[in-house]
Amino acid sequence: MTDVLNHHINGQPWLGSSGRHGEVFNPASGQISVRVPLAGAADVALAVDAAAAAYPGWAATTPLNRARVMFRFKELLERHADALAAIITSEHGKVISDARGEVTRGLEVVEFACGIPHLLKGEHSINVGRDVDSWSECSPLGVVAGITPFNFPAMVPLWMFPVALACGNTFVLKPSERDPSAALFMAELLQQAGLPDGVFNVIHGDKQAVDALIDEPRVQALGFVGSTPIAEYIHARGSAQGKRVQALGGAKNHMVVLPDADIAGVASALLGAAYGSAGERCMAISVAVCVGDACADALVAELAPRVTALSIGPGCDDPEMGPLVTATHRDKVRDYVDLGVQEGASLVVDGRNLTMADHPDGFYLGGCLFDHVQPQMRIYREEIFGPVLCVMRVPDLAAALALVNQHEFGNGTAIFTRDGGAARQFAHQVQAGMVGINVPIPVPMAFHSFGGWKRSLFGPLHMHGPDGVRFYTRLKTITARWPDSHAAEFSMPTMK
Ligand code: NAD
Repeated sequence: MTDVLNHHINGQPWLGSSGRHGEVFNPASGQISVRVPLAGAADVALAVDAAAAAYPGWAATTPLNRARVMFRFKELLERHADALAAIITSEHGKVISDARGEVTRGLEVVEFACGIPHLLKGEHSINVGRDVDSWSECSPLGVVAGITPFNFPAMVPLWMFPVALACGNTFVLKPSERDPSAALFMAELLQQAGLPDGVFNVIHGDKQAVDALIDEPRVQALGFVGSTPIAEYIHARGSAQGKRVQALGGAKNHMVVLPDADIAGVASALLGAAYGSAGERCMAISVAVCVGDACADALVAELAPRVTALSIGPGCDDPEMGPLVTATHRDKVRDYVDLGVQEGASLVVDGRNLTMADHPDGFYLGGCLFDHVQPQMRIYREEIFGPVLCVMRVPDLAAALALVNQHEFGNGTAIFTRDGGAARQFAHQVQAGMVGINVPIPVPMAFHSFGGWKRSLFGPLHMHGPDGVRFYTRLKTITARWPDSHAAEFSMPTMK
């Protein structure tokens, strides 16, 4: 009998009342590991009830005391980082060292949130007019919700809830139903850290749960990370109801390689950036744009044997690449490789026939490398989200920039070169939210903000860092005078 997970509402496990369940797999073995309840509207309402009831007390807790909860949570996350990483690997499939890295990058947002008393300091102006002072305050919003994808089951929720909670909001998290256990583990740690019940709730589910959260009038703001069609949908439906929405979507990240770059170093960077986490990263590099045929030929010659030789196996053994998250997703990625061949790209390394004798039912796919990919091909235009790298050839930097800028996505991008002037031109002219110069995956640190441009982000604000604080607070500006006289004024006050 497979175990069934719970929702986490008001500090208590809740089995759910919808009667619907999903299956969670161990991608390394292909076996079902646990079943997850899929919430209906009644379960979502219970979670929002708990968050709404907890809000006044939590919002009134001083920022210093909220920060102290975050400090304890940080210590607990550090102490249990290996356990959390093991949970991530067992449901997502990524290799254990990468899962450990995910925990660290999430932990950094908790460290950022520990500074909340400083971050919430408003601005103060004395004597904006004679004997008139003015200041601004950052107030929490109320109940806020986060809806997160499968590919970072700890880090992406951690982009959201530490900042939201530290700002004084209460939170309902709807993690991916494909790897839901990391969220529950973090809920337990928050409870141990002393977070009052109801301040943080986890509700599992699919579209039904998400729609109920969007339509729930008490939810003030929605943070979303996932694929572009769903990001656009959540942004439109949430905004139409007057909610704040930040919805991060899909990506197709290009690395531009100039002929002066160190090709062996570029190949090493690409191996990690394209095939790490089996390509299931929103910041994965999925397109290498080489300036000149000689550069492309050299890069493909360097890459091909290394992609062929990637060590692949169960994530817990810490090879270079683990399985994909589900059989359905693995098949979708394999179909894209079939498509690329039909479209006429040259498949230099074909990982489709990888067999794993010890794990015949695991969701494995070998690394795939395409050369001579053309802009009109679907394998270029669409997000594949698997271990598939496309190499493209352009004549010069201007053509590389035009290619990157014409793509519908603009999450991250990188340039590899020894030419500072070219790198500077690229950084300023490229239309993407995050740019690396000789850095393949330029994920901003927690004290900066993370987000893309174009159809990689719907909404004005990026996640965590200063934009995170702006998203989870609203500004109130107070103007005060302690008058000696009460003469009426009928013209516009001009603060003389
Ligand atoms: P997804 O869009 O399928 O799911 C994301 C969340 O939305 C999940 O919680 C899921 O339950 C929910 N959802 C799915 N279908 C829905 C529907 N029809 N209506 C309402 N909610 C729905 O994404 P995924 O497959 O879990 O994650 C991979 C995607 O996330 C990729 O496109 C990747 O690029 C993107 N991603 C983007 C970033 C970023 O920062 N831009 C970061 C991580 C992942």
